[in-house]
Amino acid sequence: MKKRDFLLIGAVLALALLCWVVPRAAGIFAGKDASRVRVTVGGEEYGTYRLSEDQTIEIQDTNVCEIKDGEVNMIQADCPDQLCIHQGPIRIQGETIVCLPNRVVVEITGKDKEEQLDGVVQ
Ligand SMILES: [Zn+2]
Repeated sequence: MKKRDFLLIGAVLALALLCWVVPRAAGIFAGKDASRVRVTVGGEEYGTYRLSEDQTIEIQDTNVCEIKDGEVNMIQADCPDQLCIHQGPIRIQGETIVCLPNRVVVEITGKDKEEQLDGVVQ
């Protein structure tokens, strides 16, 4: 009887530990994937992309930016100044690449509530 009690307590403790660990582990995992790349054209949202997924984004016919290794870089633009390309890659939340002539803004943002629904934004 006593051994069974120990087993029961052990099982409850294990379950409690699991309930404590799993959400935190999931939170760390979600946190790693939290950064998003938001592209706006003329103040209108053009699209939101995951910073963790390597991809090339064509913005209108004017700009092309690339997400690679957790960085965003403008790799092509038809603007006369080419400032957006010379700016170099961004990777930290709040950083932006702005192409003024084309009114293109590429911004790194955190995850917001809307974006937690995977696949909806993409
Ligand atoms: Zn530009």
